[in-house]
Amino acid sequence: MNPTFCSKAVCVARNWRAHIKELGNVEPEEPVFFIKPTTAICPLSEPIVLPKWSGEVHHEIELALLVDTPLKDATLEQAAAAVSHVALALDLTARDVQARLKQAGLPWEKSKAFDGSLPLGRWIPVQEVGDLGELELKLLVNGAVAQCGKISQMIHSPIDLLVEASRYFTLSAGDILLTGTPAGVGPLAPGDQLELFLSGQWAETTEVYHGC
Ligand code: ZN
Repeated sequence: MNPTFCSKAVCVARNWRAHIKELGNVEPEEPVFFIKPTTAICPLSEPIVLPKWSGEVHHEIELALLVDTPLKDATLEQAAAAVSHVALALDLTARDVQARLKQAGLPWEKSKAFDGSLPLGRWIPVQEVGDLGELELKLLVNGAVAQCGKISQMIHSPIDLLVEASRYFTLSAGDILLTGTPAGVGPLAPGDQLELFLSGQWAETTEVYHGC
């Protein structure tokens, strides 16, 4: 499946309790969604280029789901059946810009939806990974574990999120759901080496562009 068929990536914020705590946020009563446009998507295998207008771009490792059937007001069964692939992804976040916008009570788009803010790994057929709840995300930055979490520790499961999202946004075939990040987010610097793992069986590597 080619991400160019994607019309949007629906993303969720504050879906892991330890991550909510580390940013000093309050646990929301319902999932908090935001959308990244297709211009945010880029291959995870290519170096990450940090935007010039931010001094603090954070890594957020996330599980991405690919939907291959349109979903609107989906049931749990329909949502589960619509997921064809999963992938490792980064929800790059300009935390300084986001903090400024949050403080002013304004939308976060600049900090979350910018060009290249969704580096996406290769799609893995969902049959290959088995039970989504058993999967584990792990991110190493320069060889040290920065983020680690099991999907079963999420507040809302990936399929519950699809059901809820489809009440507001029709998910078209080819659309992506990003399911939130575990604790341990932090700033990226030029030259950083990133290793992303899904249950130790699937891996992606990338680096932050040095510039020249
Ligand atoms: Zn995120």
